[in-house]
Amino acid sequence: MFVDTHCHLNVPSLILQLPELLQRAQAAGVTRFVLPGVAPSCWDDLVAVAGRDSRIFAAPGIHPLMAMGFNEETVAKLERLACHAVAIGEIGLDYSDDTVPRLIQQTAFRLQLRLALRCGLPVILHCRRAFADLLQILREENVAKVGGVMHAFSGSPETAQECIRLGLHIGVAGPVTYPNAVRPLEVVRRIPLEHLLLESDAPDLTPVPHRGSLNEPAFLLETARRMAAIKGISLEQIAAVTTTNARQLFGLP
Ligand SMILES: [Zn+2]
Repeated sequence: MFVDTHCHLNVPSLILQLPELLQRAQAAGVTRFVLPGVAPSCWDDLVAVAGRDSRIFAAPGIHPLMAMGFNEETVAKLERLACHAVAIGEIGLDYSDDTVPRLIQQTAFRLQLRLALRCGLPVILHCRRAFADLLQILREENVAKVGGVMHAFSGSPETAQECIRLGLHIGVAGPVTYPNAVRPLEVVRRIPLEHLLLESDAPDLTPVPHRGSLNEPAFLLETARRMAAIKGISLEQIAAVTTTNARQLFGLP
C-alpha cells in the first residue's frame, strides 16, 4: 500500500476521469491521496473532493507564483478551512519566475507558516531556486514544530540534509526515474528512508516509462520501484516505511 502525498486530482484534466484514475491507483496499491492547493479559487473544490471520498485528503494553500493579491481576508478563509485539512500547501518560494515579486512571495509564505503553526498542521513546501531564503524563513518561523515535506525535491544531498535537520521530509517524485537523474538519485541514496515520502505530482512529472502521457497516481509505483532499486531493498519495505512516514506526518487513518 502506498500514499500519494502530492497529486492535483482536482485539476480539470484529472477530475473528469477521477473514478478510473482511482481504480487504476487502487490496482497499483496506491490507496491514499493528499491534494495540495495552489490558489483560493481551488480551495472549495479541494475540500469538496476530499469530503466525498475517505481516501482523499485536502491541503489548501497558496502557491508562491499565485501569491499576488494574497491578503488578510485570504488568510482568514484559509484558517476557516484548516479544520478540513491535513496540511497547508503548497507554499514556499519560486525564484525561477519573476511574475510575483520576491517580497510578496515571502510575505505570503510567512503568513501561511504562522497559520500552519496556529492550527498545528504540517506544510507542503514548493521551492525553486530559492533554497537559501526558504531555509532561513523556515528556521525563523520554527517549522520544526509542525514538520512538513519538501515537495518534488530538486536540490543537492547537502540541502536535503539541512531540511532534515529542520524536521522536514523529502518528497521523491518521477524525476528519480529519468535516465539522466543524478541529484535525485544521490538524495534517495543518502537520505534515510525514514525521511522520504513518495509523490506523483500528477498531472506533472510523469515517471519513466510513461513519459509523454499525463501523470497519474498509479504511476507512483515506478518511482517506488526505482527507490527500492537505489536503496537495495524490497518494494514492500519501501511501501511500508514511506506509508508510515506519510501517515505520521499528515495524521492519516
Ligand atoms: Zn504540486
